[in-house]
Amino acid sequence: MESIQAVKGMNDILPGQIEWWQRVEETARRVMEDFGYREIRTPAMEKLELFARGIGDSTDIVEKEMYVLEDSKGEKLALRPEATASVVRAFIQHKLHADPLMQKFYAIGPMFRHERPQKGRYRQFHQIDVEAFGMDDPMLDAEIIYMLRIFLERVGLSGVVLHINSLGCPECRKTYRKVLQDFLEKDAETLCPDCQRRRLTNPLRTFDCKVERCREALEGAPLLLESICGACSDHFERVKASLYALDTPFVINPRMVRGLDYYMRTTFEVITDRLGAQNAVGGGGRYNGLVKDLGGPDLPGIGFAIGMERLILLLQQEREESRRSPKIFIAALDDAARQKGFLLTQQFRNAGIETEMDYEGRSLKSQMRRADKFSARHVLILGEEELARGEIQLRDMTDKSQKNLSLETVVEAMKGIYKQ
Ligand code: ATP
Ligand code: MG
Repeated sequence: MESIQAVKGMNDILPGQIEWWQRVEETARRVMEDFGYREIRTPAMEKLELFARGIGDSTDIVEKEMYVLEDSKGEKLALRPEATASVVRAFIQHKLHADPLMQKFYAIGPMFRHERPQKGRYRQFHQIDVEAFGMDDPMLDAEIIYMLRIFLERVGLSGVVLHINSLGCPECRKTYRKVLQDFLEKDAETLCPDCQRRRLTNPLRTFDCKVERCREALEGAPLLLESICGACSDHFERVKASLYALDTPFVINPRMVRGLDYYMRTTFEVITDRLGAQNAVGGGGRYNGLVKDLGGPDLPGIGFAIGMERLILLLQQEREESRRSPKIFIAALDDAARQKGFLLTQQFRNAGIETEMDYEGRSLKSQMRRADKFSARHVLILGEEELARGEIQLRDMTDKSQKNLSLETVVEAMKGIYKQ
């Protein structure tokens, strides 16, 4: 009989991998608790309405990505696509706002979104989620961003950049919405079908579009950050001042809008350039209207979520990189390639880059094994086809990515990589 496979985009985490998860979770717990956050666990399933109202009807998450089902009584339910709406619901339902010790929470667990699975993007994924209620002070915004930074540092992640922005308040957004709609009108036909719709329903969302021609259309767009009101601008200045005081570097990214409607004022993301299109490790922001919108008292809130799969992929990549030294292995597939490879090997050595190659004409597979033993960071593969095109294939052994380089400039190119 045919065996049954797991649902596409939903992964098993096996022994050998689970240790990474345990370490990340332990570090998260320790850091969050030092900052006064307490763990909360909410169900994986909620009433559909919670997310529709909480996240926003016209967001990608609600429009396209949610797992929705109906139980036998006809009640519409959804697997949670994120944690904030659930934590806010629990906060209101159990009247936690009445208890001063119940204002700051963290949650760790699976989320579900029906997206196209790829590296760093899955249908069941896990988040470390943090929420703080009741405080409007910009110092709290800076504190929560600082906590995110400290967590990533303690868990051992480097090479990420913190982006911050302000999305203003509903008032500043009302005027801006019209300005952006007018701006997009002239290019309306060139926008992707989603953005044509977004332009009318939720124009700010167009900034989140990954389609090239929409990005181009938005290049000269007026920016919300430049037109936020005095109170929002003052708030943002104070967040920045506190981040400076905490020695926490950031860049201002006025085009970052985040994928959820509830955000206002401070928003932030931690960005990597090492996971392809999946460049956000985590993100969050302030959501002052949300508690009230979901039927609770008018209390401000702020939070963030980190994607655990992406974080662990990066940590593993870094571990792999540090294991590999800046060395090249040249794999040649036939005699002509071997001749050329021989010359290149000496040229690299002469340029001060440790280089090895195989002279014995073994199979590519066995040469790759040798390269691995040699802990080479890069393998340059040269075969008949490459040679004919005047190219050589560069394989990065840390992330397994590949690209072709010109044979003529390959020595210069590798010198450039290793000098960074
Ligand atoms: P993206 O732009 O990559 O779609 P997002 O803005 O939808 O991300 P958020 O809703 O802000 O993501 O979720 C916070 C974090 O959760 C992301 O930064 C990412 O690390 C992680 N995440 C989101 N969606 C997925 C997914 N489908 N698979 C794995 N991780 C995810
Ligand atoms: Mg998304």
